[in-house]
Amino acid sequence: MQHITILGATGSIGVSTLDVLARHPERFRVFALTAHSRIDVLAAQCEKFLPQVAVVGSPEAAKSLEAMLAEKGGQTEVAYGEAALCSAASAAGCDVVMAAIVGAAGLAPTLAAAQAGKKVLLANKEALVMSGRLFMDAVAASGATLLPIDSEHNAIFQCLPPSYGRTPSGHGVSKILLTASGGPFLSRPVETLENVTPEEAVAHPNWVMGRKISVDSATMMNKGLEVIEAHWLFGAQSNQIEVVIHPQSVIHSMVSYVDGSVLAQLGNPDMRTPIAHALAYPERIVSGVGPVDLAQIGQLVFQRPDFQRFPCLKLAYDALEAGGTAPAILNAANEVAVQAFLDRKIGFREIDRLIARVMESLPYDQITNIGALLEQDRCARATAQAFIQ
Ligand code: NAD
Ligand code: MG
Repeated sequence: MQHITILGATGSIGVSTLDVLARHPERFRVFALTAHSRIDVLAAQCEKFLPQVAVVGSPEAAKSLEAMLAEKGGQTEVAYGEAALCSAASAAGCDVVMAAIVGAAGLAPTLAAAQAGKKVLLANKEALVMSGRLFMDAVAASGATLLPIDSEHNAIFQCLPPSYGRTPSGHGVSKILLTASGGPFLSRPVETLENVTPEEAVAHPNWVMGRKISVDSATMMNKGLEVIEAHWLFGAQSNQIEVVIHPQSVIHSMVSYVDGSVLAQLGNPDMRTPIAHALAYPERIVSGVGPVDLAQIGQLVFQRPDFQRFPCLKLAYDALEAGGTAPAILNAANEVAVQAFLDRKIGFREIDRLIARVMESLPYDQITNIGALLEQDRCARATAQAFIQ
């Protein structure tokens, strides 16, 4: 029996994870569930999955969750705040941590899980993009198992040889081909992108996801963050990671080998597949996702990305090349810009311009410790906010 903590249980990935867990009660038990808002959803999840611990964002939210659970006679202990998130992720009673909080808010608990040597299922790409080497060192030092949930990285993991592990060289891998749907604005005239609304930006053609990652998919910053994520997960340099636009989202990514072979992982666009893969790895379990109907799909199309249309992708490659705290600054500026766009304070194309301005105005340092990293994150956010004002 594996005991699981889900960080971000009420989000898109969290809900999909619970859906897979519910299919395998003989294998998995929920240890802790966490959520920032949507306390009513968390209460219903607690009622169904009976976790030992539930963590929320504030004392007020904790009070209302306690009241809802008391009505139902549950035994779940309610806590709040970052320290409680970190203990839910590192507690002795938990074996597996699904890291599915969105953004930098997930860094501390995800890192706590890595430091505690847990099996870490990583959806929260922002945490890895920010902390890079520090995070990978924590995984190596504790002997934690790190498995990618992001569909592309999960696909790459499935296409790499099992012996690949922490020594990326010597396996005949020549390139990682990271597929991207191109999002909702792939063929919209570039000059009209100034005026797109948050509603248009979050309407992804293939995937149903949280609002932040949906906007990131529309700007292709999501792919940029995934390039950086692939660098850390698979030890690939930026010139070994190629983005290929594939609007059908059936091939989730590929690995190209020196002998000319290209291995791909295919599946319907449903996150329950990578979630089930990582939960059961190295076994395979039912996820609730049906098989791909290739004849029905008919055609798979590929094209090269256009940096003019998607400047965020270029900014991310530049940040990876620059190294040090550049990816953390990129991520912080992007989080602020996306929130401002969703709040209708800035236009869609101002997202990439704002990130570029923040990247130009701050120095990049080496990342030596988490304290210094968080200080850079704060500084980049303040700079971005000042530009918005
Ligand atoms: P979401 O917005 O649907 O859910 C986010 C979850 O995080 C919620 O449970 C929310 O309560 C919690 N949360 C938000 N802010 C928080 C804070 N400040 N402190 C603590 N908890 C907080 O997001 P999502 O789409 O499920 O994405 C989650 C992560 O997974 C993101 O990093 C995203 O990039 C990654 N991811 C998502 C998908 C997908 O299909 N949704 C695919 C690949 C990767
Ligand atoms: Mg992805």
